[in-house]
Amino acid sequence: MPQRDGIELLLEIRRAPLDNSVAIIMLSNSEEPALALECVRAGAQDFLLKSEVTGPRLERAILHSRARFVLEQKLHNSFQKAKVLAEQDSLTGLANRYSFEEALSASITQKPRDNAKLALTLLDLDNFKFINDTHGHDVGDELLKQVAKRVSNCLRGNEVFARLGGDEFAIILSNLHTIDNATRVTKRILSSLEVPFIISGIDIKMSASIGIAIYPDNSVEAIELLKFADIAMYRAKKLGRNQICYFEEEMQAQFLQRYQTEAYLIGALTRNEFVLHYQPIYQLSTNKLTGFEALIRWDYKNTLQYPLSFLEIAECSGIINDIGRWVIQQSLYQISAWNLENSEQLSIAINLSPIQIKDKSLLAFIKSMLTQYNVAPHLVEFELTETTLLESNNETIEFFTSLKQLGCMISLDDFGIGFSSLSHLHNFPIDTVKIDTALILKSHEANTKRLITGICRMLQSIDIAIVAEGIENESSLSLCQQLDIDRGQGYFYTKPVDALTIKSNFI
Ligand code: C2E
Ligand code: MG
Ligand code: MG
Repeated sequence: MPQRDGIELLLEIRRAPLDNSVAIIMLSNSEEPALALECVRAGAQDFLLKSEVTGPRLERAILHSRARFVLEQKLHNSFQKAKVLAEQDSLTGLANRYSFEEALSASITQKPRDNAKLALTLLDLDNFKFINDTHGHDVGDELLKQVAKRVSNCLRGNEVFARLGGDEFAIILSNLHTIDNATRVTKRILSSLEVPFIISGIDIKMSASIGIAIYPDNSVEAIELLKFADIAMYRAKKLGRNQICYFEEEMQAQFLQRYQTEAYLIGALTRNEFVLHYQPIYQLSTNKLTGFEALIRWDYKNTLQYPLSFLEIAECSGIINDIGRWVIQQSLYQISAWNLENSEQLSIAINLSPIQIKDKSLLAFIKSMLTQYNVAPHLVEFELTETTLLESNNETIEFFTSLKQLGCMISLDDFGIGFSSLSHLHNFPIDTVKIDTALILKSHEANTKRLITGICRMLQSIDIAIVAEGIENESSLSLCQQLDIDRGQGYFYTKPVDALTIKSNFI
């Protein structure tokens, strides 16, 4: 071999397309162990000294080499399979989270050429859990596969497209010269999802929320880009789903604010920072006080916070379960104390969040509190919104039925602005419907007045009691009285106030 050495030749044979079934034995005069090792690394199966070669020995070496070669091939194949399994999402065949993160780091370390940008795009299906819960996991899985296919069709094929887990997908759009390219691709993706999916004969409408973070504009770190895209995606969900949202600095500030509030909220119960305010509820025909609605307030750094500013955070983090139990205990304690001093037995209305309904031991807790404070169950009304009923399953229906069997009352809050579904009134044991403040506030407008009139007639015909919320003036009160609405609450009577004020003015 005058022109090249044995190792070079070996590498060349191994690179050739036909070498796959060839076992190679190297013969050399050199006794250096390092050379033998190098030959094996370069793809030889055995290494013999020329001085030691005899017919039988060579024959044996060939046999061994062939056997070793077959084993090596098997090992190689199973390694390839394991690699695919480790890097691929088995359901959709897309890259998985692991290989996605590797690819993201690699594309950032390689630094895109010509100042090109990179868009890290996160896509999360809207209300996917609902599909899984109502149609089962097989339908859910098939939907994920079809979504993956439709999204793939919107891509050129050279992008990294991965399923990160559940219903969350990620795409790296690289070599972008303008961000508009990312907008164009993601818009195409959202419109591709608009056509309903048909799975096992079921028509399924599915949209997605998309969050985008840009390298290097938002960050040059992979982990931070992922976090920012996630924040943008969360914002897209909040904007009403089926939206595309780019990460902005100001979002980060809001995110931090939310994060801080959550951290404070976790300790708020032990620091005794919650208070209940009570809004009196009147029988409209007689203007007689019948009870109160308990409304939570949070004394956060010496300023009273209203539920809209913290309840959603409490729900997302799950703290609502503890807060909700505190509200139940405090309200029952309070009504029991007031009723001891009052000749008329007054009722208490307590709001329940949809998250609380999923708490399996809530019913037992309510039972034990009713006993502890000796409150007659019919004086306790639990208020829930239609969102709770929308997400309901057999367990929630069972919860409401048991609550009714206990003797408590159930009200449907905020009626008239959301779904206002008749089937909810029919399928759930609802005693009372509360007409939302927003409707009563506009009751002077002819259209709204007609709507309220219609709602009242319908509810009265199926024997559901009605409470009007947000009675702010004499004219809405008199309309509610004309419509035979049973009870009402609102600033016309009084705003929600603390327990001391109630005791000195109403008990
Ligand atoms: P909601 O249950 O519909 O309560 C009525 C809301 O309307 C209260 O707002 C009340 O202050 C307000 N309101 C009462 N009368 C009038 C009026 O005449 N005009 C106007 N414009 N508004 C009036 P608040 O206290 O801010 O509570 C907001 C929502 O937070 C409640 O709506 C309820 O859904 C939720 N919430 C309050 N306390 C709790 C609680 O302890 N647990 C849960 N899960 N939710 C609660
Ligand atoms: Mg309420
Ligand atoms: Mg309401």
